[in-house]
Amino acid sequence: MSDNRIPLAGVIGSPIAHSKSPQLHGYWLRMLGLRGHYIPMDIAREDLETALRTLPKLGFVGVNVTIPYKERILEIADLITDRATLIGSANTIIFRKDGKIHADNTDGYGFLENLRQQAPHWNPKAGPAVVLGAGGAARAVVATLLDAGVPEVMLTNRTRVRAETLAEDFGKRVRVVEWIQAGNAIEEAKTLVNATSLGMVGKPELRVLLDGLRPDCVVNDLVYAPLQTKLLLTAQAAGCTAVDGLGMLIHQAVPGFERWFGTRPVVDEATRAAILR
Ligand code: NAP
Repeated sequence: MSDNRIPLAGVIGSPIAHSKSPQLHGYWLRMLGLRGHYIPMDIAREDLETALRTLPKLGFVGVNVTIPYKERILEIADLITDRATLIGSANTIIFRKDGKIHADNTDGYGFLENLRQQAPHWNPKAGPAVVLGAGGAARAVVATLLDAGVPEVMLTNRTRVRAETLAEDFGKRVRVVEWIQAGNAIEEAKTLVNATSLGMVGKPELRVLLDGLRPDCVVNDLVYAPLQTKLLLTAQAAGCTAVDGLGMLIHQAVPGFERWFGTRPVVDEATRAAILR
C-alpha cells in the first residue's frame, strides 16, 4: 500500500446512525485542515471479523467500535492494552503496519479529562465516590476513579450481582451498596457518577434519592442526551458542581484521532458546539 493514501477511519456498530463520532472527527479534520475521512459503518455481527481484517487493505488506519461490539472486539484483536483488558471492552482500534489489530479503551481517559476540564477543583482523594450502574461504562469509571486515588467507590446497580462481579474484579476499595440504599451512600459522596442509561432520552428517569447531596460533591452524568439531565439540574440546585457527559464523548475520541490522523485535536467550546449542532 502506498504511504500517500488518504487515511481513513470510522466507527463500527449496529445501528450506527445515532453516532456523533462522524460529526466530531469530521469537524476536527476540517478545523485542522487534515487529509482524511471518518465513516460510519453498520456491520453485522457475523461480518465483524472479516470487516476488521479487510479495512486495513482498503486504507483504513483504525476505527472506533461502539455498541454492541465493544466486548466482542477483544476476541478478535491481536493486541489488547491492559486498561482494555481490565475494563473488559475496547472502543479504539489501531490497524498496525505489521497487520496486527490493536485494541484500546479510552472511555476512562475521556471520563477523567472531562471531569478535570469541567470541574478543575475536583479532588479524587477528597472522599468516597458513588457510582450508579455496573455496565461497560461503569467499569471504565470505576477503574479510572481508583487509579485517580479515590479512597473508596460505593457501587450500586439495579441488578446487584452485576455490581458484585465488577467489585470482585477491582478489589477491596469497591463496596457494593443496595440499589434502594443509593440515597444513603450519596450523603457521603464527594463524587457521584451516573453510569446507567437512566435519564437518557427514551429511557426512564433516574429515581434515586438525592436529598443528601452535599454541595462539595462533584456530580457527573455520563448521559449526554439531554445535555442537562434531571440529575444535573438537581445537583446544581443543591450547590454541587455538575459535569455533563458530552465532554467524555469528545475527550475519549482524542487518542484515536491523534493516532490515525497525526495531530492532537483540542477540546473546547467550539468543539462542543459543533457536536450539538
Ligand atoms: P450498559 O452496559 O448497557 O449498562 C446499562 C446500565 O444501566 C446498567 O447498570 C443497567 O442496570 C442500568 N439500567 C438500565 N436500565 C435501568 C433501569 N430501568 N433501572 C435501573 N438501572 C437501569 O451501558 P453502558 O455502555 O455502560 O452505558 C451506560 C450509559 O452511559 C449510557 O447512557 C451511555 O450512553 C452512557 N455512556 C456515555 C459515554 C460518554 O462518552 N458520555 C460513554 C459510554 C457510555 P442493570 O445491570 O440492572 O441492567
